[in-house]
Amino acid sequence: MPQLSTDPPIDDLAGLALFNQVSQILGSSLDLTQVLNQVMDAIIQLTGAERGFLMLVGRDTPELDLRAGRNVDRVTIDGDEMEVSRTVISRVVEKGQPVLTYNAQEDPRFSQQMSVVGYALRSVMCAPLWARGKILGAVYVDNRVRSGVFSESQLSTLATFANQAAMAIENARLFTMTDQALAARVEELSILQRIDRELNTSLDFDRVMDLALEWAVKLADADGGMLLLLEEGAETARVVASRGRDAAPDRVPLAHPAISHVLANGESVVMHGPVSAQSVDGTPAIAQVAVPIKREGRVTALLALESSRENIFDEDKVAFLERLADHAAIAIENVRLYDAVVAATDAKSTLISLVSHELRVPMTSIKGYTEMLEAGAAGPVTEMQLEFLDTIQRSVDRMSVLVSDLSDINRMESGRLRLDSGPVDLADVIDEAVAGLQTQFVAKGQTVSVDIPDDLPSVLADRSRTVQILTNLLSNANKYSPKGRPVTVTAENVDREGRRFLRVAVTDQGIGITPEDQAQLFTQFFRSLDPAVRDETGWGLGLSIVKMMVEAQGGAITVESTPGVGSCFAFTLAVADDS
Ligand code: ADP
Repeated sequence: MPQLSTDPPIDDLAGLALFNQVSQILGSSLDLTQVLNQVMDAIIQLTGAERGFLMLVGRDTPELDLRAGRNVDRVTIDGDEMEVSRTVISRVVEKGQPVLTYNAQEDPRFSQQMSVVGYALRSVMCAPLWARGKILGAVYVDNRVRSGVFSESQLSTLATFANQAAMAIENARLFTMTDQALAARVEELSILQRIDRELNTSLDFDRVMDLALEWAVKLADADGGMLLLLEEGAETARVVASRGRDAAPDRVPLAHPAISHVLANGESVVMHGPVSAQSVDGTPAIAQVAVPIKREGRVTALLALESSRENIFDEDKVAFLERLADHAAIAIENVRLYDAVVAATDAKSTLISLVSHELRVPMTSIKGYTEMLEAGAAGPVTEMQLEFLDTIQRSVDRMSVLVSDLSDINRMESGRLRLDSGPVDLADVIDEAVAGLQTQFVAKGQTVSVDIPDDLPSVLADRSRTVQILTNLLSNANKYSPKGRPVTVTAENVDREGRRFLRVAVTDQGIGITPEDQAQLFTQFFRSLDPAVRDETGWGLGLSIVKMMVEAQGGAITVESTPGVGSCFAFTLAVADDS
């Protein structure tokens, strides 16, 4: 940035050049302090004054504030000797007209004043700072002892310059203001982001309420406050969080002035003074703010803060609290939804446990009596009766599969599935699963070949659950392959992320699965629309259970399939002695 020359006072032509130079500098800076100092330097040079200063009208008060000075400091300004200077400045700011006096001691406007006499003040010049139709303040220069230092033409230069300077000051001021406003907004956003993070990490209702109130009290600089929840039909609101009082009431009447105001208007309210502001316990309060927390436009809760300082809840704070309330509303709604989902899941889980238990008992007796009838325990059975009994038998088997699948899913989803892990010999498990489905394979003329190495290490798994996994996969291979198509079971060692696993694969030459169906295979109740699938019995739960059980044991499941060619389902389980 170009610097001002520091040469002594100058003539008119040089003055014009300086004027130009200064204007350019002023136009290029948005730093208010820098602009003010540059203005003051330029004025001293343009006028050749002994001393000078610049005062601005305060933003919120009409008082004049010293913002830049040359050869004069605040103490001097506040002292008696500056009485006339202050009078001149006030007059200029008030009237908006420049003032020039060649000899203050003889000027009837000032000669009576003590400072003129006492400090031999003679030449004074002052011009208002006009910008956008408003007076921002004034620039003032003076000379003691010598009279007639300043001329009319200098006054007009000063006045013109003052107007230029005023624009630069106003721009710098606006810039700082927007800058400050922007900084405040950025800070607010980052605070709200932090609050959101905290609010959203907790799904505990009391904690969310407490956090929201804690932030509100802190950021509004309040002495304390409460979060009140409205309840359908109640004449009092429930206090769900409270800060700043030893003993908070459990409930607050809706007739409380601040609360009833918010409820009637759906808007925030600030109450001042002991008459209208009232603490929740009825004692007078100095300042109070109540902000509604809304859901779908309806007030569902209220944030009420109190302070012993008057005027503490200004517009900005209320606006901020309203934004905070909006964020809290979302967090409260999340907690509410979460609680509702948890309650519904709990209810579903309880129902399934109850129903499974109640169904198992009669199913066991149906199964038992059917077997007894089949065995002739109640007398001889005809061919046709045997066939009917067989149908009953198979239906009960289907039901019991469904009941045990549902209760497995229930246990896994509620985290109540107990896994009894230990070293498991896979060859054994495969044999057991194949043997369990022998009838089904024989019925379809399918062979099952098991191809596993002799030195297969044990896996770390729950034995009966591993049998269940394999049974499900083998049963699908049986169901979804045409008659006579062979099924193979293989096992091999694999390494995954430095750990040893066994990979068990069940391969069939069945109907296969389309890529679209493969994407949904492991979701509950999914069954392909292929008629060959629909011809078989099933609930679409087996594979989702298999996946959960494999993953619960630290393994993974994959599928490779080509429609019309066959499928291969493979899962891994960790090797037991792997350290
Ligand atoms: P279910 O067999 O009771 O229908 P599953 O969860 O075991 O339920 O299987 C879901 C679906 O995946 C089956 O309905 C079928 O469409 C498909 N599927 C599973 N295994 C095979 C397979 N080996 N071959 C072809 N399709 C299969």
